[in-house]
Amino acid sequence: MNATRHATRDAIVIGGGLVGAAIAYGLQRQGLSTVMLDEGDVAHRASRGNFGLVWVQSKGLGAPHYQHWTHASARAWPELAADLLEATGIGVGLHQPGGLHFCFSDEEMAQRDALMGQLRREAGNAGYEYRMITAAELHDMVPGLGPQVVGASWTPYDGHVSPLHLLRALHAAFQGAGGLYRPNALVTAIKALPGDFAVDLGADTVRAPRLVLASGLGNADLAPLVGLSAPLRPERGQILVTERARQVLALPTHVVRQTEEGSLLLGDSKEDLGFDTLTQTPAIMRAIARRAVQTFPWIAALNIVRAWAALRVMSPDGKPIYDASERFPGAYIANCHSGVTLAGAHASLLAPMIAAGALAPDLSPFSARRFHVQKTA
Ligand SMILES: Cc1cc2nc3c(=O)[nH]c(=O)nc-3n(C[C@H](O)[C@H](O)[C@H](O)COP(=O)(O)OP(=O)(O)OC[C@H]3O[C@@H](n4cnc5c(N)ncnc54)[C@H](O)[C@@H]3O)c2cc1C
Repeated sequence: MNATRHATRDAIVIGGGLVGAAIAYGLQRQGLSTVMLDEGDVAHRASRGNFGLVWVQSKGLGAPHYQHWTHASARAWPELAADLLEATGIGVGLHQPGGLHFCFSDEEMAQRDALMGQLRREAGNAGYEYRMITAAELHDMVPGLGPQVVGASWTPYDGHVSPLHLLRALHAAFQGAGGLYRPNALVTAIKALPGDFAVDLGADTVRAPRLVLASGLGNADLAPLVGLSAPLRPERGQILVTERARQVLALPTHVVRQTEEGSLLLGDSKEDLGFDTLTQTPAIMRAIARRAVQTFPWIAALNIVRAWAALRVMSPDGKPIYDASERFPGAYIANCHSGVTLAGAHASLLAPMIAAGALAPDLSPFSARRFHVQKTA
């Protein structure tokens, strides 16, 4: 007699990081009974090691679809934060006062202005508000700016959250709404038929007509199992955290942000070192600290209390991958390197599309097919 139990759900989401949890929460909220399968604690998890920015400026240069998607997510964020608070009592600490990107020479200011101008042109009628702010004006916005800062770009769209509270809140809201979370469930095989997916978990099998691959770097191996592709690579980033200080930094910046608890996060780096998250490199940590002190000299008086490295989930062009399988209708994939920023879009826009059975045409430029075309060109 076969003792294996079968549980049928409306959707299976593989991956319990920020991308998987946001989509699973969104699906469950759409009324789809959803199971989220997640690997063990040894997994690579960008969602537990990121900087926490909800960042719009600089995103989508030469790719208006990405700019629009990021904007849409930033707009969806206040409602997501409010819903999570109501559902779970967990405040994710969302603040969207706009953000600053600092420049250290007149040449950098000119280049940044040109880049922001291009983003505005490419935004078209959707609009893209920004200002280049000189050091004199910046002194009124942020305290104790270093003499080497010449100015900054500012957009009103940027913000930040506590990424750990966000991850916890998404999981809690998902489960509170009836979703089933299965930890220690490393998926290595999928039985796929059009509109019928089964994953064997040993003691039982879960089955559903919809499957979402949202397992970060793990998607590279899983995608081919359902006729998709995800050419992803890890990109390491290191972050330093200072002791708590009184609240001084009212706006997040691309290199320093102050948490609700008062710590300053100093970030981050971009390193191509494979799957290594264990070693932290003093030279990179020094460079991160030096840049922070160059921006705000008073940071030098604060002790660093924590530091870590984590792996970004990078596609070849750095933009997200969203795809629906043609061979196995019902199977979808979602990957991005800005899972905090895009949590609003994933929960409120992408999940309803998946629930309805089709990705909107606006998302077609995010298909991994763009990489196949490049290869053969
Ligand atoms: C240093 C750093 C700074 C960052 N700063 C920001 C920022 O300021 N703002 C921003 O928007 N983004 C930022 N990011 C990016 C953001 O953290 C990621 O985009 C996001 O966390 C990706 O989430 P994910 O769920 O796709 O992947 P992950 O967090 O890597 O999670 C993947 C999950 O899938 C599971 N999994 C993997 N394989 C399998 C399998 N085969 N079966 C079952 N489960 C599996 C794992 O257990 C894990 O839980 C940063 C990243 C880094 C590293």
